Amino acid sequence: MAKITEERVLEALSRVRDPERGKDLVSLGMIGGLAIKDGNVGFSVEVDAARGAGAEPLRKAAEQAVFALDGVTSVTAVLTAHRKAGPAPGGAGPNGGGPDRDGPARDGPARDGQGGSGPGATAPAPSQGPAPRGPGADRIGSIVAIASGKGGVGKSTTAANLALALMAEGARTGLLDADIYGPSMPRMMGVRGKPTTADGKVLDPMTGHGVKLMSMGFLVDEETPMIWRGPMVMSALQQLLHDVAWGPLDVLVVDMPPGTGDAQLTLAQTARLSGAIIVSTPQDIALLDARKGLNMFRKVDVPVLGIVENMSYFQCPHCGERSDVFSHGGARREAERLGVPFLGEIPLDIAIRETSDGGRPIVAAEPDGAHAAAYREIAMQVLDRLDAGTTAAKPAPKIVIR
Ligand code: ADP
Repeated sequence: MAKITEERVLEALSRVRDPERGKDLVSLGMIGGLAIKDGNVGFSVEVDAARGAGAEPLRKAAEQAVFALDGVTSVTAVLTAHRKAGPAPGGAGPNGGGPDRDGPARDGPARDGQGGSGPGATAPAPSQGPAPRGPGADRIGSIVAIASGKGGVGKSTTAANLALALMAEGARTGLLDADIYGPSMPRMMGVRGKPTTADGKVLDPMTGHGVKLMSMGFLVDEETPMIWRGPMVMSALQQLLHDVAWGPLDVLVVDMPPGTGDAQLTLAQTARLSGAIIVSTPQDIALLDARKGLNMFRKVDVPVLGIVENMSYFQCPHCGERSDVFSHGGARREAERLGVPFLGEIPLDIAIRETSDGGRPIVAAEPDGAHAAAYREIAMQVLDRLDAGTTAAKPAPKIVIR
């Protein structure tokens, strides 16, 4: 079976004409975020936001053209809105392929203990194809998504505390609130105000408790209800990722929008994630949803770093006594069954809610407490798994016999 290469995919796409603009998709520069893994191909078709759903036949035509290639087993093409300012998010230029992030940020005295900065320090690249380019994303070592099958399980709380715990472990950390439907990070991290820009193109991130932070919540009025149409979602997310001066960072934690729909899938595919963490409550129903999240990341070849069980058991605020609720341990059992690492459990504790709802998550508010220790334990595992991915991606050493 013929090997699928970027050239072959682009060649197929160069035969698809945009009837509205009278030229093919490749010469019009409409293809972005091309990712090829075995026979699975994904890319975005960038159109003007005004065309919206009207561009659907074009998307289908692009998908079919690539699917017709010998050796292609699946194609995911998504429409993204045309971006007026800043560089294109991928460009799918012929120079793509290979390890394409610039030198990872994690090369300094970022982590203490554990042998310092990680061997070779090349970010794991779970999928092939050109990485999205942008002034921000180029200088990020690893991008880790925090996802959940549904809302309300504590995904954002986990993302905020994990980001703080990663920082406490010595990693330079950023936090991207990609939950554009209900951005909660400004409130959770206790950060107000508007980000500034030095050059009119790239935004400087805000900082909360030492973590670099960006959220749609900084850019739009809290009171204004946001109505997002499909292509706008991706465009907004791409900008939050690429048009922000993130780097240098060791880890960017991305608080994903809840659920497993198209926006999540595209983000997972185009953000060049190093790994994903699924947050789940112990209830079976939530676990069913968690499985959807897992499958979504598998579909786009993003390694699932593990599952966190949130609201795992109840910790009485008065006597400290622990009682199990909601079929505690369900996430651990499910993780075992699915062959995914179990990263840890976080209790249901009013202190966790009060601190994060009050703008100072528990890892910042009580850094020496038991909850902070639990989040740090999870953070250490995440860093180790990211390092392991790095090591695995390195070629074997050459043996020289004299
Ligand atoms: P999601 O991002 O999944 O929608 P949030 O992180 O916003 O969920 O959490 C929903 C609510 O539950 C928030 O008020 C948060 O403070 C609270 N919460 C989250 N995790 C815990 C926990 N372990 N203990 C107590 N309250 C929690």
